[in-house]
Amino acid sequence: ETKKEKGNRCLVFHYDMNLMIEEQLDLEKRLRDALFTDKMMLFYQPKFEAKTHRLVGMEALMRWYDEEYGFIPPIQFIPFAEEVGLMPMLGEWVLVTACSQMKRWIDAYPNSELRVAVNISPLHLQEKNFVYIVKQVLRDTGLSAKHLEIEITELSFMNGSDVVAETIQDLKNLGVSIAIDDFGTGYSALSYLKKFPIDTLKIDKSFVRGIKKGTNDESMVTAIINLAHIMNMSVVVEGVETIEELNIIEKAKGDMIQGYYFHPALPTEQFEKLLMDV
Ligand code: C2E
Ligand code: MG
Ligand code: MG
Ligand code: MG
Repeated sequence: ETKKEKGNRCLVFHYDMNLMIEEQLDLEKRLRDALFTDKMMLFYQPKFEAKTHRLVGMEALMRWYDEEYGFIPPIQFIPFAEEVGLMPMLGEWVLVTACSQMKRWIDAYPNSELRVAVNISPLHLQEKNFVYIVKQVLRDTGLSAKHLEIEITELSFMNGSDVVAETIQDLKNLGVSIAIDDFGTGYSALSYLKKFPIDTLKIDKSFVRGIKKGTNDESMVTAIINLAHIMNMSVVVEGVETIEELNIIEKAKGDMIQGYYFHPALPTEQFEKLLMDV
């Protein structure tokens, strides 16, 4: 089997959960090893205030470099990691790595407003000791809670929402912010928005792609932004790629923009250049 064939097989493994047991174990081992051999990395995608185009934060996004398969994007290993129960371990690694990096950045480039966002998968969020771990990570890294934001998806509210309610409240009490990721693509009832203290909605990029004046997409995005503002939440619009999309989002009063129009997720050293400019 050539490298290319292996690479192709790798590209589809998230569609095929019926991997042979040996393949699955091999993949699990590689994934664990990646954490301890610096093969797993975080890239950081900046978020900008819509009004001023000032840098207001960044989202930490996992990138896995595998010698055999090359750069493997998260969509190709996160569903697998979820399936085999590795997400708590990966998520903890992300928390520690993002918080210690952020602490170094805040020390070097003091900015009281910057927040680093970390994605947490539903099952991880539901773990009993999740808040305890966050607290420990903040203590160990010395990062102030106001610089940390947790991104969760609507899936987190589908079951075990009692546990989630407590977790979110505890995180808020610590001073950590909460954002709802991929807003509008889940199956949850909107009622969670009034039950939980959410700070930010992130409008999914599917609403933004190719958005035009006078379309249903524009109406939806405008309505979501208005809903958020009425309920004292702010809005990040994801996936803004073009000046046309940016103009419409700014007109609709979106608060923050994250998208290729500004920057994709960047390696640490490249992200740091943005901080130097502030
Ligand atoms: P997400 O949390 O919604 O992250 C935003 C995704 O949109 C990222 O993809 C980002 O690179 C991409 N993106 C941002 N701006 C644009 C744009 O203008 N155009 C396009 N086409 N895409 C844009 P990425 O890094 O491939 O991550 C995909 C998903 O994988 C994330 O979606 C998130 O659900 C998951 N993920 C990534 N890192 C982590 C992590 O550390 N933990 C967890 N639990 N999930 C993660
Ligand atoms: Mg996210
Ligand atoms: Mg998203
Ligand atoms: Mg997502």
